[in-house]
Amino acid sequence: MSNLRPRKDPRNPHPRRPSRPAQGVARWLTRPDHHMVGGVLEVNGQSYELLPLYSGAETVLDGYRLLKGDGAMYDLPRDLSTCDCPGHTFRPEQPCKHMLALKAAFARLADEGRAA
Ligand SMILES: [Zn+2]
Repeated sequence: MSNLRPRKDPRNPHPRRPSRPAQGVARWLTRPDHHMVGGVLEVNGQSYELLPLYSGAETVLDGYRLLKGDGAMYDLPRDLSTCDCPGHTFRPEQPCKHMLALKAAFARLADEGRAA
């Protein structure tokens, strides 16, 4: 066992970085089709391509991949309960901007669907 990373103090889990809530300001630059293909989402001024992830059979949507312009990609499960970005990896107790942004963006799609 390595002792390089001390156990987190639950009263002060992030002594160096003041914890600030993630912001998930999102808007669709391009809306995805009903297969969740072709979406481009802007999160805090950064644009991401939205890709659907399928497990095994291509009919079962398993999650989403956000592809950033610089090549970084982040995968989220279908329920958006987690994200493999550094932000969420280091602060698993907080939803990251990708989780918040996708939740908000999908809610907006659903609203638009009802309105149409
Ligand atoms: Zn994330």
